[in-house]
Amino acid sequence: MEHNEENCIFCKIIKGDIPKEFLYEDEHTVAFLDIKPVNPGHTLVIPKKHFVNIFEAPEETWLHIMRTVKKVSHAIKDGLGIENVNLEMNNGSIAGQEVFHAHMHIVPRNEHDGLKHWPGGKYTGDEETQILERIKKAL
Ligand code: AMP
Ligand code: ZN
Repeated sequence: MEHNEENCIFCKIIKGDIPKEFLYEDEHTVAFLDIKPVNPGHTLVIPKKHFVNIFEAPEETWLHIMRTVKKVSHAIKDGLGIENVNLEMNNGSIAGQEVFHAHMHIVPRNEHDGLKHWPGGKYTGDEETQILERIKKAL
């Protein structure tokens, strides 16, 4: 299915077509609880305007998202009395994106939740230098 504003579940939430209590709202962003939380308080921060992911969102929108992520992360920390959160954003289906309206996850963590970090690999030969050069050239 093609992903656009008309069939976007997060646009429906923003328009009020799907009822959802926002824990934070400003001119550019809203935050609400994820319907399938990793841990209680798992929150999504999204822009009000529809952008698919980091690659589509203008820099200004990205900064608005980040400002709200910072604000809400502190509220999660203080309000829930937790000290650890993961910030995660899935950009593209291979990266695990399922809802194609940009969103940052704020995941409160506790020592018993069993979540594991991704496994680390290693570079061989001159791969690291080549990768570094390719990215630097594109900047
Ligand atoms: P992602 O894999 O990063 O695209 O994650 C999409 C997230 O959106 C998942 O964690 C879902 O649980 C969450 N989600 C989907 N529909 C809703 C909804 N109606 N309300 C709140 N969260 C939702
Ligand atoms: Zn949308």
